[in-house]
Amino acid sequence: MTTGTLFIVSAPSGAGKTSLLKALVETEEHVRVSVSHTTRPKRPGETDGVDYHFVDKEVFSNMVESGAFLEHAEVFGNFYGTSEAGIRDQLEQGDDVILEIDWQGAQQVRARFPATVSIFILPPTPEALRQRLGSRGQDSDEVIQRRLGEAREEMSHYPEYDYIVVNDLFDQALGELRAIITAQRLRQPSQAARLQERLRSLLG
Ligand code: GDP
Ligand code: ADP
Ligand code: 5GP
Repeated sequence: MTTGTLFIVSAPSGAGKTSLLKALVETEEHVRVSVSHTTRPKRPGETDGVDYHFVDKEVFSNMVESGAFLEHAEVFGNFYGTSEAGIRDQLEQGDDVILEIDWQGAQQVRARFPATVSIFILPPTPEALRQRLGSRGQDSDEVIQRRLGEAREEMSHYPEYDYIVVNDLFDQALGELRAIITAQRLRQPSQAARLQERLRSLLG
Protein backbone atom coordinates (compact mmCIF):
# COMPACT_ATOMS: atom_id res chain seq x y z
CA MET A 1 0.00 0.00 0.00
CA THR A 2 1.20 3.47 -0.80
CA THR A 3 -0.43 6.72 0.31
CA GLY A 4 -1.04 9.55 -2.11
CA THR A 5 0.88 12.80 -2.05
CA LEU A 6 -0.47 15.98 -0.58
CA PHE A 7 0.21 18.91 -2.93
CA ILE A 8 -0.17 22.60 -2.17
CA VAL A 9 -0.77 25.12 -4.94
CA SER A 10 -0.55 28.83 -4.11
CA ALA A 11 -0.62 31.92 -6.32
CA PRO A 12 -1.75 35.52 -6.17
CA SER A 13 -5.44 35.93 -6.91
CA GLY A 14 -5.98 35.94 -10.70
CA ALA A 15 -2.80 34.03 -11.62
CA GLY A 16 -4.91 31.16 -12.95
CA LYS A 17 -4.63 28.44 -10.30
CA THR A 18 -8.33 27.54 -10.28
CA SER A 19 -8.49 27.25 -14.10
CA LEU A 20 -5.28 25.20 -14.23
CA LEU A 21 -6.36 22.78 -11.50
CA LYS A 22 -9.79 22.34 -13.06
CA ALA A 23 -8.15 21.39 -16.37
CA LEU A 24 -5.70 19.11 -14.56
CA VAL A 25 -8.29 17.01 -12.70
CA GLU A 26 -10.42 16.67 -15.83
CA THR A 27 -7.66 14.72 -17.56
CA GLU A 28 -5.64 13.20 -14.74
CA GLU A 29 -6.87 10.21 -12.73
CA HIS A 30 -6.28 9.69 -9.02
CA VAL A 31 -5.88 13.37 -8.22
CA ARG A 32 -8.46 15.57 -6.55
CA VAL A 33 -8.65 19.17 -5.46
CA SER A 34 -9.78 19.62 -1.88
CA VAL A 35 -12.92 21.77 -1.46
CA SER A 36 -12.26 24.46 1.17
CA HIS A 37 -14.68 26.16 3.53
CA THR A 38 -14.96 29.93 3.18
CA THR A 39 -16.92 32.86 4.58
CA ARG A 40 -16.52 34.89 1.36
CA PRO A 41 -19.69 35.56 -0.64
CA LYS A 42 -20.38 33.18 -3.51
CA ARG A 43 -19.43 34.52 -6.98
CA PRO A 44 -21.86 34.22 -9.89
CA GLY A 45 -21.41 30.73 -11.34
CA GLU A 46 -19.94 29.18 -8.18
CA THR A 47 -21.68 26.17 -6.62
CA ASP A 48 -21.80 25.35 -2.92
CA GLY A 49 -19.98 22.08 -2.23
CA VAL A 50 -18.16 22.20 -5.59
CA ASP A 51 -16.12 25.43 -5.61
CA TYR A 52 -16.26 25.92 -1.86
CA HIS A 53 -18.38 25.01 1.11
CA PHE A 54 -19.86 28.48 1.71
CA VAL A 55 -20.51 29.02 5.41
CA ASP A 56 -21.16 31.99 7.72
CA LYS A 57 -18.67 33.23 10.31
CA GLU A 58 -20.44 31.43 13.15
CA VAL A 59 -20.26 28.02 11.47
CA PHE A 60 -16.63 28.70 10.55
CA SER A 61 -15.58 29.63 14.08
CA ASN A 62 -17.40 26.59 15.51
CA MET A 63 -15.39 24.43 13.12
CA VAL A 64 -12.17 26.13 14.24
CA GLU A 65 -13.03 25.48 17.88
CA SER A 66 -13.87 21.83 17.29
CA GLY A 67 -10.52 21.30 15.52
CA ALA A 68 -12.11 20.43 12.17
CA PHE A 69 -9.51 22.34 10.15
CA LEU A 70 -6.12 21.07 9.05
CA GLU A 71 -5.28 24.74 8.45
CA HIS A 72 -7.18 27.99 8.26
CA ALA A 73 -6.35 31.60 7.52
CA GLU A 74 -7.81 35.03 6.92
CA VAL A 75 -7.29 36.15 3.31
CA PHE A 76 -8.60 39.45 1.87
CA GLY A 77 -10.84 39.89 4.95
CA ASN A 78 -12.55 36.49 4.60
CA PHE A 79 -11.85 33.21 6.35
CA TYR A 80 -10.72 30.10 4.48
CA GLY A 81 -9.97 26.64 5.79
CA THR A 82 -9.24 23.05 4.78
CA SER A 83 -11.23 20.49 6.73
CA GLU A 84 -9.34 17.36 7.63
CA ALA A 85 -12.25 14.99 6.91
CA GLY A 86 -11.96 13.42 3.49
CA ILE A 87 -8.37 14.39 2.82
CA ARG A 88 -6.96 11.62 4.97
CA ASP A 89 -9.30 9.03 3.39
CA GLN A 90 -8.30 10.04 -0.13
CA LEU A 91 -4.58 9.92 0.65
CA GLU A 92 -4.94 6.55 2.31
CA GLN A 93 -6.70 5.23 -0.80
CA GLY A 94 -3.57 6.22 -2.73
CA ASP A 95 -5.07 9.26 -4.47
CA ASP A 96 -3.18 12.56 -4.62
CA VAL A 97 -4.87 15.58 -3.08
CA ILE A 98 -4.23 19.19 -4.06
CA LEU A 99 -4.85 22.03 -1.62
CA GLU A 100 -5.43 25.38 -3.30
CA ILE A 101 -4.51 27.58 -0.36
CA ASP A 102 -2.63 30.76 0.51
CA TRP A 103 0.93 31.00 1.90
CA GLN A 104 -0.24 31.17 5.52
CA GLY A 105 -2.14 27.90 5.17
CA ALA A 106 0.81 26.39 3.30
CA GLN A 107 3.09 27.10 6.27
CA GLN A 108 0.67 25.38 8.67
CA VAL A 109 0.29 22.30 6.46
CA ARG A 110 4.08 21.94 5.90
CA ALA A 111 4.67 22.14 9.65
CA ARG A 112 2.30 19.21 10.18
CA PHE A 113 3.15 17.17 7.06
CA PRO A 114 6.73 17.81 5.97
CA ALA A 115 6.32 15.43 3.00
CA THR A 116 3.94 17.87 1.32
CA VAL A 117 4.99 19.00 -2.18
CA SER A 118 4.29 22.68 -2.83
CA ILE A 119 3.97 24.60 -6.08
CA PHE A 120 3.82 28.36 -6.59
CA ILE A 121 2.12 29.72 -9.70
CA LEU A 122 3.27 33.11 -11.00
CA PRO A 123 1.60 35.31 -13.60
CA PRO A 124 3.94 36.29 -16.48
CA THR A 125 3.74 40.05 -15.77
CA PRO A 126 1.99 42.48 -13.38
CA GLU A 127 -0.09 43.71 -16.35
CA ALA A 128 -1.29 40.18 -17.13
CA LEU A 129 -2.33 39.69 -13.52
CA ARG A 130 -4.32 42.95 -13.56
CA GLN A 131 -5.95 42.00 -16.83
CA ARG A 132 -6.91 38.48 -15.67
CA LEU A 133 -8.40 39.70 -12.41
CA GLY A 134 -10.51 42.16 -14.42
CA SER A 135 -11.41 39.78 -17.25
CA ARG A 136 -12.72 37.16 -14.83
CA GLY A 137 -15.49 39.73 -14.37
CA GLN A 138 -16.71 38.37 -11.05
CA ASP A 139 -15.30 40.78 -8.51
CA SER A 140 -16.08 44.44 -7.83
CA ASP A 141 -13.43 47.09 -8.63
CA GLU A 142 -12.82 47.50 -4.92
CA VAL A 143 -12.19 43.75 -4.45
CA ILE A 144 -9.90 43.68 -7.51
CA GLN A 145 -7.85 46.62 -6.20
CA ARG A 146 -7.47 44.95 -2.82
CA ARG A 147 -6.36 41.65 -4.38
CA LEU A 148 -3.84 43.40 -6.65
CA GLY A 149 -2.51 45.28 -3.66
CA GLU A 150 -1.86 42.02 -1.82
CA ALA A 151 -0.41 40.12 -4.81
CA ARG A 152 3.14 41.29 -4.16
CA GLU A 153 2.98 40.14 -0.52
CA GLU A 154 1.68 36.70 -1.60
CA MET A 155 4.34 36.39 -4.34
CA SER A 156 7.15 37.32 -1.92
CA HIS A 157 6.66 33.85 -0.35
CA TYR A 158 7.82 31.97 -3.47
CA PRO A 159 11.11 30.79 -1.80
CA GLU A 160 9.09 28.60 0.59
CA TYR A 161 7.84 26.42 -2.31
CA ASP A 162 9.40 23.38 -3.98
CA TYR A 163 8.40 24.34 -7.55
CA ILE A 164 7.53 27.47 -9.52
CA VAL A 165 5.29 27.41 -12.59
CA VAL A 166 4.79 30.55 -14.71
CA ASN A 167 1.28 30.62 -16.16
CA ASP A 168 1.97 32.47 -19.41
CA LEU A 169 0.78 29.99 -22.06
CA PHE A 170 -1.98 28.01 -20.36
CA ASP A 171 -1.23 24.62 -21.97
CA GLN A 172 2.45 24.87 -21.20
CA ALA A 173 1.77 25.66 -17.54
CA LEU A 174 -0.69 22.74 -17.42
CA GLY A 175 1.97 20.42 -18.86
CA GLU A 176 4.44 21.58 -16.23
CA LEU A 177 1.97 20.88 -13.42
CA ARG A 178 1.39 17.39 -14.84
CA ALA A 179 5.15 16.82 -14.99
CA ILE A 180 5.51 17.65 -11.29
CA ILE A 181 2.76 15.20 -10.33
CA THR A 182 4.17 12.49 -12.59
CA ALA A 183 7.70 12.93 -11.21
CA GLN A 184 6.39 12.66 -7.65
CA ARG A 185 4.60 9.40 -8.52
CA LEU A 186 7.82 8.00 -9.98
CA ARG A 187 9.84 8.54 -6.82
CA GLN A 188 11.42 5.33 -5.60
CA PRO A 189 9.33 4.66 -2.44
CA SER A 190 6.02 5.19 -4.28
CA GLN A 191 7.12 3.08 -7.22
CA ALA A 192 8.57 0.33 -5.03
CA ALA A 193 5.26 0.05 -3.18
CA ARG A 194 3.30 -0.02 -6.45
CA LEU A 195 5.67 -2.46 -8.20
CA GLN A 196 6.09 -5.02 -5.42
CA GLU A 197 5.13 -8.02 -7.58
CA ARG A 198 7.14 -6.96 -10.59
CA LEU A 199 10.20 -6.34 -8.44
CA ARG A 200 9.80 -9.75 -6.83
CA SER A 201 9.71 -11.49 -10.20
CA LEU A 202 12.61 -9.43 -11.58
CA LEU A 203 14.81 -10.00 -8.55
CA GLY A 204 13.89 -13.64 -8.22
P1 GDP B 1 -9.17 33.42 -6.28
O1 GDP B 1 -8.00 32.64 -5.76
O2 GDP B 1 -8.82 34.73 -6.86
O3 GDP B 1 -10.06 32.62 -7.19
O4 GDP B 1 -10.05 33.86 -5.02
P2 GDP B 1 -10.63 33.02 -3.82
O5 GDP B 1 -11.54 33.96 -3.07
O6 GDP B 1 -11.20 31.74 -4.30
O7 GDP B 1 -9.36 32.72 -2.91
C1 GDP B 1 -8.66 33.80 -2.27
C2 GDP B 1 -7.41 33.29 -1.59
O8 GDP B 1 -7.73 32.37 -0.54
C3 GDP B 1 -6.43 32.54 -2.50
O9 GDP B 1 -5.11 32.97 -2.16
C4 GDP B 1 -6.63 31.08 -2.13
O10 GDP B 1 -5.46 30.32 -2.35
C5 GDP B 1 -6.93 31.19 -0.65
N1 GDP B 1 -7.66 30.03 -0.14
C6 GDP B 1 -8.71 29.36 -0.71
N2 GDP B 1 -9.08 28.31 0.06
C7 GDP B 1 -8.25 28.30 1.13
C8 GDP B 1 -8.12 27.45 2.28
O11 GDP B 1 -8.85 26.47 2.48
N3 GDP B 1 -7.15 27.78 3.16
C9 GDP B 1 -6.31 28.85 2.99
N4 GDP B 1 -5.38 29.07 3.91
N5 GDP B 1 -6.39 29.67 1.94
C10 GDP B 1 -7.35 29.41 1.02
P1 ADP C 1 -7.10 32.23 -9.59
O1 ADP C 1 -7.85 31.00 -9.21
O2 ADP C 1 -5.61 32.08 -9.43
O3 ADP C 1 -7.58 33.46 -8.92
P2 ADP C 1 -8.43 31.97 -12.20
O4 ADP C 1 -8.19 30.54 -12.55
O5 ADP C 1 -9.79 32.37 -11.71
O6 ADP C 1 -7.30 32.48 -11.17
O7 ADP C 1 -8.01 32.82 -13.50
C1 ADP C 1 -8.20 34.25 -13.57
C2 ADP C 1 -8.58 34.63 -15.00
O8 ADP C 1 -7.43 34.47 -15.87
C3 ADP C 1 -9.68 33.77 -15.60
O9 ADP C 1 -10.55 34.62 -16.34
C4 ADP C 1 -8.94 32.79 -16.48
O10 ADP C 1 -9.73 32.36 -17.56
C5 ADP C 1 -7.74 33.62 -16.97
N1 ADP C 1 -6.52 32.83 -17.27
C6 ADP C 1 -5.99 31.80 -16.57
N2 ADP C 1 -4.85 31.35 -17.12
C7 ADP C 1 -4.62 32.12 -18.22
C8 ADP C 1 -3.57 32.16 -19.22
N3 ADP C 1 -2.53 31.31 -19.23
N4 ADP C 1 -3.68 33.09 -20.20
C9 ADP C 1 -4.71 33.96 -20.21
N5 ADP C 1 -5.72 33.98 -19.31
C10 ADP C 1 -5.68 33.08 -18.31
P1 5GP D 1 2.10 10.92 7.91
O1 5GP D 1 2.34 9.48 7.99
O2 5GP D 1 3.31 11.76 8.10
O3 5GP D 1 0.95 11.39 8.77
O4 5GP D 1 1.59 11.19 6.41
C1 5GP D 1 2.08 10.53 5.23
C2 5GP D 1 1.77 11.34 4.02
O5 5GP D 1 0.37 11.54 3.87
C3 5GP D 1 2.37 12.70 4.06
O6 5GP D 1 2.68 13.05 2.72
C4 5GP D 1 1.28 13.56 4.62
O7 5GP D 1 1.40 14.84 4.04
C5 5GP D 1 0.02 12.87 4.15
N1 5GP D 1 -1.09 12.80 5.10
C6 5GP D 1 -1.49 11.73 5.82
N2 5GP D 1 -2.60 11.94 6.50
C7 5GP D 1 -2.95 13.19 6.25
C8 5GP D 1 -4.06 14.00 6.67
O8 5GP D 1 -4.98 13.65 7.40
N3 5GP D 1 -4.08 15.23 6.20
C9 5GP D 1 -3.13 15.68 5.40
N4 5GP D 1 -3.24 16.93 5.03
N5 5GP D 1 -2.11 14.96 4.94
C10 5GP D 1 -2.01 13.73 5.36
